[in-house]
Amino acid sequence: MQFADLQKLYARYREETEEALLRAAASGRYIGGEEVEAFARELGEWMGVRHVVPVANGTDALQVALMAAGLRRGDEVIVPSFTYVASAEAVALLGLVPVFADVDERTFCLTRRTAEAALTPRTRALLPVHLFGRAAPMEELRALAREEGLFVIEDNAQAVGAIYLSKSAGTFSEKCSTFPEKCQHFPAEAPHEVKTGTESPLSCTSFFPTKNLACLGDGGAITTDDDALAGRALRIARHGQAARYRHECLGCNSRLDALQAAVLRVRLRHLDEMLRRRRAAALRYGAELAGLPGICLPEGPSEAPGHTYNQYTLRVDGGAARRDALASYLRERGVPTMVYYPLPLHRQPAYERYAPQHLLPVSERLCGEVLSLPVHPELAGEEQDCVIRALREWRG
Ligand SMILES: *Cc1c(COP(=O)(O)O)cnc(C)c1O
Repeated sequence: MQFADLQKLYARYREETEEALLRAAASGRYIGGEEVEAFARELGEWMGVRHVVPVANGTDALQVALMAAGLRRGDEVIVPSFTYVASAEAVALLGLVPVFADVDERTFCLTRRTAEAALTPRTRALLPVHLFGRAAPMEELRALAREEGLFVIEDNAQAVGAIYLSKSAGTFSEKCSTFPEKCQHFPAEAPHEVKTGTESPLSCTSFFPTKNLACLGDGGAITTDDDALAGRALRIARHGQAARYRHECLGCNSRLDALQAAVLRVRLRHLDEMLRRRRAAALRYGAELAGLPGICLPEGPSEAPGHTYNQYTLRVDGGAARRDALASYLRERGVPTMVYYPLPLHRQPAYERYAPQHLLPVSERLCGEVLSLPVHPELAGEEQDCVIRALREWRG
């Protein structure tokens, strides 16, 4: 059993993928062109967002978004400490200040309360991460951003396709003119389902091979409903170029190539099905592992219906030694696991200088408790059986 079976995923869509790859290879258009434009259009339609700006990877997406937001050296950006390093790296690289905030132990995400504890007069932006494929509580975070005049950039790298209930009528009515077919079912003010990465001024995602929507290498995108921000992000990612050889702002070179776009177009057509399979595996784990002593399961699909389970991450009582003992026991039983993440970012050598004065107790504790089980869309029923049996027979 593999933790993420990329060969099996490739094999499932092999014919379509190879056809698309060969078409792109023969086209002579490798940078930009029809494949990239078509992918951006199709992803925007699938997500329900006006603009998709394809870039080279998810980390670049964050960097370009932070640049497009017009943040200045020294501005503070609130970032959860319990996340992948890229979320804070892009902030620090630009000379902005990542201010680490704690997360909620149930959702693993930034909340209004944990973000408020990190506010200072220099705070300019919130950078919530939809960790493990679960939407952060965007309603309350957006309310905080509104009250404090903060910019919001979502890190949607792990959660393409995740859904949450939104009440923001403003962007919603605007969205209705773009996607009337999505909007006819509810009145404008009622809470309605939206996908992560579609309502904030800027959002970032990654097509790294293990993400929900994955290519055969590196890839990423910025999503936004804002025409001006989309234009700025695109210009920044193309050397700040406004017209050919006219460079109006400082930029970089960050592009999704045509071969990856061709593969992503194929996979996008199957994304709903892939997400369904992730949810089905999570549902089964939830049902069959419930009540195991000393193990706390993540929210199931009934508790968090929009969760995409990019990871299925449990918490093991008793600290890192017991968690690590479970991981090695599972390895002996043929079940690979991963620890996402073993150290909070404010304890990483490169980021200690940004460690806050106050403690981030939940982030600290989670790093000693979390263990992610295999949950990819190709996980066979027998493999799930094996995971379930092994966990049930653990006598740690
Ligand atoms: C994967 C990931 C990124 C970065 O994506 P890359 O494409 O690998 O650069 C950023 N943030 C989070 C939370 C991620 O999981």
